[in-house]
Amino acid sequence: MMQSKTILNVYPDIDILMNEPLSKYTHTLTGGPADILAFPRSIKECQQLLDYANENHLPITVIGNASNLIVKDGGIRGLTMILTKIKKITSHENLVVAESGAALIDVTKAAQANSLTGLEFAAGIPGSVGGAVYMIGGAYGGDIENFVTGAEV
Ligand SMILES: Cc1cc2nc3c(=O)[nH]c(=O)nc-3n(C[C@H](O)[C@H](O)[C@H](O)COP(=O)(O)OP(=O)(O)OC[C@H]3O[C@@H](n4cnc5c(N)ncnc54)[C@H](O)[C@@H]3O)c2cc1C
Repeated sequence: MMQSKTILNVYPDIDILMNEPLSKYTHTLTGGPADILAFPRSIKECQQLLDYANENHLPITVIGNASNLIVKDGGIRGLTMILTKIKKITSHENLVVAESGAALIDVTKAAQANSLTGLEFAAGIPGSVGGAVYMIGGAYGGDIENFVTGAEV
């Protein structure tokens, strides 16, 4: 309880829920409570949360759109971050640059809007960019690994 007060006090501007059931977010509707569930809106907020977790020796779990997760009833200890609010997408010539929480469908739309082909296979995968890269997502013979030219971590 002390810990929850602390993080809420330290970061009043970050969307943070305490003891929040993850079944509200997973596509499988599974999952007990996350001790701390945060929804950072920027990379800076992410860094602040990670600093807090590291300073307090909390385990860290990263979730995208939670479309490939079965979470146990006991939930997840420490800090859990859902990244779907970090979702900016920009395009530069023949490149689409997407933040990790961007929905794959939105990235495929951005590619289409810029007359870029290749990513059509991903339009039906209900995940985020980060989740697709982590899971090496693919469909209809297309694979995300063939379309990622770089990642900033
Ligand atoms: C109806 C349905 C259809 C699907 N069809 C397909 C399909 O055709 N092809 C396919 O490949 N998959 C498919 N999937 C599975 C799922 O959508 C993919 O695996 C997707 O890429 C997961 O992305 P996510 O953002 O939902 O990840 P999550 O489910 O949130 O997380 C999955 C894993 O990735 C990690 N992760 C997520 N984001 C990050 C990040 N930013 N940094 C580091 N680690 C991260 C998580 O810790 C977790 O281990 C389908 C799922 C459903 C429910």
